[in-house]
Amino acid sequence: MNIAENISTLKKKLPERVCLVAVSKTKPNKDILEAYNSGHKVFGENKVQDLVKKYEELPKDIKWHFIGHPQTNKVKYLAPFIHLIHGVDSLKLLKMINKEAKKNNRKVSVLLQFHIAEEQSKFGLTLQEAKQMLESQEFKLLENLEVMGVMGMATYTDNKEQIRNEFKMLKFIFNTLKNEYFSDAKNFTEISMGMSDDFPIAVEEGSTMIRVGSKIFGKRNY
Ligand SMILES: *Cc1c(COP(=O)(O)O)cnc(C)c1O
Repeated sequence: MNIAENISTLKKKLPERVCLVAVSKTKPNKDILEAYNSGHKVFGENKVQDLVKKYEELPKDIKWHFIGHPQTNKVKYLAPFIHLIHGVDSLKLLKMINKEAKKNNRKVSVLLQFHIAEEQSKFGLTLQEAKQMLESQEFKLLENLEVMGVMGMATYTDNKEQIRNEFKMLKFIFNTLKNEYFSDAKNFTEISMGMSDDFPIAVEEGSTMIRVGSKIFGKRNY
């Protein structure tokens, strides 16, 4: 695996608007440093403990993204430094992020995760649930966080039409929220969708942020 080469090949294929989050979960620091030394600064992890350890050991100008669904009791470990939390799907979690962000005297950026896949197991809100949350008085009081957009994962399938339709749904959700709740929020701009196997479709459907692991670092051994 030539990690630096994989990143530069990928970046050449991406439009300017698309941010590449290099998903380094389960991978050692030396792999991350190989990417870092080639100029890449944006990495994603999905386990709080692993992410905090890597944050402590690696260069401080890395922009760390939390791409999973943090447990509320672990948010405090992310709050001091995290650049963006992708998998937020409840008011309870938003309130905890806000509380911990406030303790650190900063604003934490988040994406709302939506359920767009047909699989039952994946996390995420429905549009209806999101509307209810965004209209609540409790949400309006959260001053130490910023909702930057939406995130979703398509069904794990070979059916390209199905994947495309799920990404279209997420784009529709983004537009709906933008129009109804975030028309004045200049930072509500991000649609995080697309992984190693489906990012070309995601980019065609309007993704602004792709989360790519195995295509950069190789297969993961869990
Ligand atoms: C692991 C993971 C990815 C990257 O998956 P690859 O198929 O290796 O590119 C993207 N998003 C989330 C939420 C993940 O957990």
